[in-house]
Amino acid sequence: MKLAFLRLDPQAARENLAMQIAVPEYALNILDRLESHGFEAFVVGGCVRDSLLGVTPGDWDVCTAATPEEMRACFSGMRVIETGLKHGTLTVRSGGQNVEVTTYRLDGPYLDHRRPESVRFVRALEMDLMRRDFTVNAMAYSPKRGLVDRFGGQEDLARRLIRCVGEPRERFEEDALRLLRALRFAARFGFDIESGTALALREKASLMAAVAAERIFAEWKKLVTAPASRQILTEYADLFARWMPGLDTSRAAMLGYWDLLPARSDLRTALLCRDPEALCAFLKTDGTFKKRVARLWECEGEPLPDSPVMVLRFLAACGEDTFSDRLDLARARGEDADMCLGHLHTAQQQGRVWRVRDMAVTGSDLTSLGFSGPALGGALNALLEAVMKGQVPNEKEALLAAAQCMKK
Ligand code: ATP
Ligand code: MG
Repeated sequence: MKLAFLRLDPQAARENLAMQIAVPEYALNILDRLESHGFEAFVVGGCVRDSLLGVTPGDWDVCTAATPEEMRACFSGMRVIETGLKHGTLTVRSGGQNVEVTTYRLDGPYLDHRRPESVRFVRALEMDLMRRDFTVNAMAYSPKRGLVDRFGGQEDLARRLIRCVGEPRERFEEDALRLLRALRFAARFGFDIESGTALALREKASLMAAVAAERIFAEWKKLVTAPASRQILTEYADLFARWMPGLDTSRAAMLGYWDLLPARSDLRTALLCRDPEALCAFLKTDGTFKKRVARLWECEGEPLPDSPVMVLRFLAACGEDTFSDRLDLARARGEDADMCLGHLHTAQQQGRVWRVRDMAVTGSDLTSLGFSGPALGGALNALLEAVMKGQVPNEKEALLAAAQCMKK
């Protein structure tokens, strides 16, 4: 099976391809610079894949026969950042954009299933494409030289398949992060994983232990928010559970509303947790992510607050972020989020507040009345509760009067 344009005559095919892979000016400029110095150059990887899928690429990566030293001469007068010189990568500023330009390279032997011990710069594009993970990610294009697709990337795009370049077992052995990348791309595009690749993925699953938590977390965030995440999380639930302690992906299958959830990784992660603390510690997540996961996990099973005072108590206990997460969840589940928001508006219209700092009296007002120590804090909380319930208006005089009564 081939994509439609392959059946066209060569000239029409070229034009069709150029239309599909519309390399932006700032990246063309880089290809031209390299070519005018006698070095082959292509856009490569994700941008070619996305263009052929009709998706606008996020960024345009370039690969070239020029070594980093040779590149530098080509880019004189342009801003160049030495991002990964050892691996042959320079970041070049062009038309206000950053473009990563990498020398064709072969990866040397891999250490610990994570990274190559060394890389070797080469002059042949084919070798560079060979080191790439999946056939759909191993295509290169240049308006001058056309599309280079040595591993059947177009065919796999048409068949909607993620397939390793070369022998899948070896490719996963080299770099175990590819296990998760295969699942991430399948989830993103709604592709199947080709049977040989899927078999190797299961066989080599234990290699994930070698991958750094930060890299797992980065892939996980992309995977869990991808359009076809539900299928992948369900189909490979056992692997995720093995890889990530504290996770219970079997829930994704039960969550009929999964696809209606906002594409937010913290919110979605919370719904797949068995033990949020263990999971976040394992993934070394940032504190904000951890807090949001833990709080939503705690309240997701509770009914929505169904009165003004319940809404205010929820806000007092969990804060605005978790309230907003809980409403997002309610909308996906078909719960009455509008009614809940209505209760909040009612409370606000009545001037009710849920934070001590928003009250019309302060600690020093109560000190003047003779409160001190724990009694002061207790009085403030009791006043807040009375305000939340609508028993006392949030006005200074009324609150001071109520405080006086508490003293008796
Ligand atoms: P995205 O749109 O998510 O950035 P991408 O395909 O650009 O997708 P990147 O992680 O940015 O993915 O990597 C760029 C390219 O580098 C890939 O398309 C692939 O060719 C190659 N690549 C990246 N990571 C690996 C890896 N671990 N093993 C082999 N090739 C890789
Ligand atoms: Mg990319």
